[in-house]
Amino acid sequence: MDTSMEKDAITEQYLGIEEKIRKYNPGANFERLRDAYTFAREAHKEQKRKDGSPYITHPLAAAEIIADMELDEDSVIACLLHDTVEDTPVTHEDIAKRFGREVADLVEGVTKLTRVVYTSKEEEQVENLRKMLLAMAKDIRVIIIKIADRLHNMRTMNYQSAEKQREKALETMEIYAPIAHRLGMQRVKWELEDLSLIYLDPLGYTEITSQLDSRKEKLEQFMETISETITERMKSVGVKCRVFSRLKHIYSIYRKMYSQNKEFSEVLDLCAFRIIVDTVSDCYNALGQIHDLYSPMPGRFKDYISTPKPNMYQSLHTTVVGVEGIPFEVQIRTWEMHRTAEYGVAAHWKYKQGITESGDEEKFAWIRSLLETQQETDAADFLHGLKVDMFADEVFVFTPQGKVINLPTGATPIDFAYSIHTEVGNHMTGAKVNGRIATFDYILQNGDIVEIMTSPSANGPSRDWMKIAKSSQAKGKIKQWFKREKREENIVHGKASFDAEMKRNNLSLNDMPDGETLLACLKKMSFSNIDDMYAAIGYGGLTSVRAVNRFREEIVRAVKQRRQEEAAQEAAQGIQSRAPKKPNSVKGVVVGDLDNCLIKFARCCTPVPGDKIVGFITKGFGVSVHRAECQNYLNSGVHGDEDDRWINVSWGDIGAETYNTALTIQARNRDNFVLDVATVLSAAKVKLTGLNARELEAGRAVAFVSMDVHSRAELQAAINRLSVIPGVSEVRRPGV
Ligand code: MN
Repeated sequence: MDTSMEKDAITEQYLGIEEKIRKYNPGANFERLRDAYTFAREAHKEQKRKDGSPYITHPLAAAEIIADMELDEDSVIACLLHDTVEDTPVTHEDIAKRFGREVADLVEGVTKLTRVVYTSKEEEQVENLRKMLLAMAKDIRVIIIKIADRLHNMRTMNYQSAEKQREKALETMEIYAPIAHRLGMQRVKWELEDLSLIYLDPLGYTEITSQLDSRKEKLEQFMETISETITERMKSVGVKCRVFSRLKHIYSIYRKMYSQNKEFSEVLDLCAFRIIVDTVSDCYNALGQIHDLYSPMPGRFKDYISTPKPNMYQSLHTTVVGVEGIPFEVQIRTWEMHRTAEYGVAAHWKYKQGITESGDEEKFAWIRSLLETQQETDAADFLHGLKVDMFADEVFVFTPQGKVINLPTGATPIDFAYSIHTEVGNHMTGAKVNGRIATFDYILQNGDIVEIMTSPSANGPSRDWMKIAKSSQAKGKIKQWFKREKREENIVHGKASFDAEMKRNNLSLNDMPDGETLLACLKKMSFSNIDDMYAAIGYGGLTSVRAVNRFREEIVRAVKQRRQEEAAQEAAQGIQSRAPKKPNSVKGVVVGDLDNCLIKFARCCTPVPGDKIVGFITKGFGVSVHRAECQNYLNSGVHGDEDDRWINVSWGDIGAETYNTALTIQARNRDNFVLDVATVLSAAKVKLTGLNARELEAGRAVAFVSMDVHSRAELQAAINRLSVIPGVSEVRRPGV
């Protein structure tokens, strides 16, 4: 051996590992292994374990577990170095330079797993955490090293605080033992469970061990008798085998007692036997002999040779009843199956000389082919569990509260935000990953702790986000936001399309009898206001033809009714014509060659001097004056028989009289909007006769103004002033 190495107890421990490796991998580079040992020892030289021993004894012990599993050289080296990056100034680069990238990556993998903080969670979260660890590992050897690390820590847990003991035991029981089981590492799983039980239920553990101790002699006697009987029988029939007997592991007895509510004395099958033979046909041979020697318990025979378990486990299982009526389990398997049963996936990682493996796909091909032949119900679960590792289509990250969030590989903080809540996504202003500001397109890594910064005044998603987001969930929500936000645009387009269709049909919404009827029509189409309907038309959810048809009947009926009312009114005015109550009944309007004609300004379009106007001879007396652009005039074609009742009228001399007219003002809803309208009109010296406003959806508001003006020019000036009020989008006269 290298004389430069100090010969002490620790080096002895290391040399023991070398010996183990030499047995299964004599071609290993022992200089490199020794270098790793010296490097790790140097790095940890200032550190002590809780029990006072030099820290290096821990990585050494873990590496010994790895060597026992006959893993490759890189795994042993990585295990020796597994705590250097976390606990010493050594960096990933240092390791990569000295031992190669593969070792450095393995160490980094283990370090990352070490940083995952475990707190007890609900079952679903625990399962996600297991998957996360598998996914983070990327290389399955990382998980195996981590398990070896945990196994040694659990073996030496007695110096830790009671709190730490419980915490680690719970994590081991919930995370690492199931992972070991999933990877087929039965022996490791048992040990992890038993070690955890010591801290999780010390009394339960002690009860079982003391009961087992008190029966030790009897049980040993029993196991010996059975073993001898089996061995002799096998010899007599020429099956070469070795028979092992063992007490069942403590946690399995514990579980049986608790799940079946049994006393210890009621748990009969405390012993298990294992017959290891050379060939598969010997397995079935041996089984026949066992069933000949003892009575098999019905329903307890399982053939995991023809149908292996998803974790690759193969064996024949049977439970038989022995001489004193005590049942016991017998497992029969070949030596190769035995190795797989003990070490699972790790067994397939043992050094294979001359075989170079290229790429993960090939490495895991055997797992996949194995999985494809699985019929067990939990095969799907296992496949899923391994999938995150082998096929890497998921990424697992934490919220700052420690909740595990599962996203597709390639997911970004945007996906994360939307998976938390739509509003979190829509109000996202930035993201922190592991405490540092991250860009929106940062690709989330397993184990990242992601924090989303939001602001109530955030502008919402940008269009780029759709490209950055990976999950269809986030993409859908962003799309939805744009659909909703583009509402304004949709309303404009929808209204134009609707108005054109109305015009084509010579209809006008102004002829709706009242707001309530309008609302009722909208309700029939499941809209709560007209803008919703416009938006739906604009978005393509409703055709304008359908929408128009919904209003047609009401409008036609209303128009008829109003004509009748107008006629009645005109008639009444005709009777009182000799005592006109208002001088403006003929206000400056010249009707063809008729004199002293009764004049009435149509309320649908409220003409003012300067407007192009037309007159309509009512059925009673008098002429109703409309603006030439009034929809009622333009649409009058529908009532063909009335065409000849429209006559030309014009403005005559205009006095100082004022004319009542109206405006509709659309604006962004904000404080003081109505006040500003009133102020502007008052400054324009317009006499307001009515002003009311209401809120619309999507932060919009509308104001209805009625006022007295002298002329169209005056009205236009008011419109111009109103149009420049902040937030105002439209100022419109009615009737057009
Ligand atoms: Mn460690």
